[in-house]
Amino acid sequence: HNAKDQGVEIRRYIPAMQMKAKERLKLENDLRRALERGEFYLVYQPQVLLETEEIVGMEALLRWNHPKRGLVSPVDFIPIAEESGLIVPIGEWVLKTACMQNKMWQDAGYHPICVSINLSMRQFLQPNLAGKIDAILKDIGLDPCYVDLEITESMTLDKETAFDQLNRLKRLGVCISIDDFGTGYSSLHYLKNMPIDRLKIDRSFVSDVMEDSNNAAIVSTITSMAHHLKLKVTAEGVENKDQLHFLRQQHCHEAQGYLFSKPVKAAEFEQSFLRPLLEMPS
Ligand code: C2E
Ligand code: MG
Ligand code: MG
Ligand code: MG
Repeated sequence: HNAKDQGVEIRRYIPAMQMKAKERLKLENDLRRALERGEFYLVYQPQVLLETEEIVGMEALLRWNHPKRGLVSPVDFIPIAEESGLIVPIGEWVLKTACMQNKMWQDAGYHPICVSINLSMRQFLQPNLAGKIDAILKDIGLDPCYVDLEITESMTLDKETAFDQLNRLKRLGVCISIDDFGTGYSSLHYLKNMPIDRLKIDRSFVSDVMEDSNNAAIVSTITSMAHHLKLKVTAEGVENKDQLHFLRQQHCHEAQGYLFSKPVKAAEFEQSFLRPLLEMPS
């Protein structure tokens, strides 16, 4: 490449970047109004206890039905929501909606399950987060033991802040999971000391666990470490029976993935996955 070629590349790149910035700004503006316009909804993906195949939990996943673009992936809009700070009110809506749904199902007489909710960095950094969650749970009347908060390793980098926040959250009685585990920078020291309950093995290790012996080693190591540290362990992104068999061999506690179900809307989740607490005599 000579300088002239590079110049051409640069000139071609700038408009693309501006487009992207414009596009982002547009999405951010749309995102600003999405809550009040009721464009968000939650889908739920079952979490399966491997020993019994029971559905013991569900992960709430946010969906944005954009009036013009249609469904926008959280992978595309969560980072914008995060950078703009919009994730704070949106995240609160997720917390309320998911907890309310879980409580409604308990009141309807279904076998209680746990709801996992993803927290963003901004949410996690709010000093009054535990207070907010406490108020939400009390208002709804949901027992905190049916709530699991998913954080990522990157949120524990500021060790003291994370430690204090996690302790405040744990005192409420909720569970804490580390999402996408293995892709971040947690040291074993953090793992030993942080008040957490569960590791969720990242999908990237599980997805080709049968083809890639390094991934098999990683999954097996994380599972065994979780057992030794008395943490629960959940595999994400389980798509086939071979993976499931491997996870069972490793005594992985729970699994989540397309093999069981994609994330589905509340009505479908209720129909397909919830069991009545007591069988009604017919
Ligand atoms: P995540 O928390 O790791 O959620 C798991 C993602 O993997 C979901 O993507 C789910 O649909 C997908 N998935 C589950 N099983 C399989 C499988 O077997 N194969 C494949 N290929 N994918 C599977 P989704 O719903 O697009 O969400 C992407 C990410 O967006 C989430 O990753 C999470 O980090 C973020 N996110 C979603 N909802 C929320 C939310 O309410 N708040 C925040 N802060 N982040 C959220
Ligand atoms: Mg998650
Ligand atoms: Mg996540
Ligand atoms: Mg994940």
